[in-house]
Amino acid sequence: MRIAVFSAKRYDHRFLAAANARFQHDLVFFEPKLDLDTAKLAEGFAGVCVLVNDCLDRAVLEHLKAGGVTLVALRCAGFNNVDLQAADDLGISVVRVPAYSPDAVAEFTIGLLLTLERKIHRAWARVRDDNFALDGLIGRNLHGRVIGVVGTGRIGALVARALRLGFGCEVLASDLTVDAELAAIGVRYVSAEELLERCDIVTLHCPLTPDTHYLINAATIEKAKPGLTIVNTSRGALIDTSALIEGLKRGRIGGVALDVYEQEADLFFADLSDEIVQDDVFQRLLTFPNVLVTGHQAFLTEEALAAIAATTLANIADAEASRPLHNRVTAISVQPAGH
Ligand code: NAD
Repeated sequence: MRIAVFSAKRYDHRFLAAANARFQHDLVFFEPKLDLDTAKLAEGFAGVCVLVNDCLDRAVLEHLKAGGVTLVALRCAGFNNVDLQAADDLGISVVRVPAYSPDAVAEFTIGLLLTLERKIHRAWARVRDDNFALDGLIGRNLHGRVIGVVGTGRIGALVARALRLGFGCEVLASDLTVDAELAAIGVRYVSAEELLERCDIVTLHCPLTPDTHYLINAATIEKAKPGLTIVNTSRGALIDTSALIEGLKRGRIGGVALDVYEQEADLFFADLSDEIVQDDVFQRLLTFPNVLVTGHQAFLTEEALAAIAATTLANIADAEASRPLHNRVTAISVQPAGH
């Protein structure tokens, strides 16, 4: 199948080209992300292959459809950037990679948390400057602390297990359903409110839906345990960043580690080091000593990229051969869960 690959970085070329030896799709790589301005690049292609920050709203999908596109192949699990109703209306199939390496994201989450709690990022910057003073680097143990996991699906369950069994934390969880295996190792399911009130640290692993949008906001920050640390490797808009900044300024929030940011589509995955970043909210966030931000890289391991490439190309092959699309998402398929 002839596919326009958007937001294509060098590593996408490498892993997709390697996996394509088996499939022989006609892949054409475009570095820009997909939006209304770049949609014309896909004219004459049967499908587009896209990532989290590509824009697939109704206008873009209409443009794609007019140019012959009938398939959207996401190289990621989340699909909040796709207007699924519009895709259904236009007869465009949307396929995704539901699980490529939950371990990659879970391990990165633990890495961010440890880095923040033990100030490893600040220590590294000092040591590079031959500053070996320890003042200001006092951290906190994870052992014995109360940690909340919001969303105990594939990734959240791994994080909860590592924190409970690996570090000996008291783990509270909130989800729409209880994971019996986690409950059996002592993870206790509570309401989202109780979780925020009781936890020292909260890590977010639920999808971005209308229900979870701004889950962390001014009101929930006010009710949370003072000094709460928040980790988010899920989706940026789970957090109202302006409210987070207010919480940090007032000391209500004790630390923040983010791999995602609500306006990341304008920033992440690009080298902006020679430019003046115009996003004042993001720039303010970077000024806090107790904030650690990475640019949506939790998924970025050899194992995950190989798995993403293999599943994406298999999804495309299924569509080309008119086989059932196991990894398809439609507006209807995601409605029963309320998302
Ligand atoms: P998953 O579908 O396996 O698990 C999500 C869990 O969240 C489910 O158990 C679901 O019941 C629960 N949930 C839904 N609504 C909820 C709510 N209102 N409150 C509490 N729980 C709720 O998904 P996953 O594979 O574990 O991925 C989790 C998220 O991680 C994805 O949605 C995606 O946005 C993000 N992600 C980020 C990266 C990255 O590189 N940073 C990579 C992959 C996935």
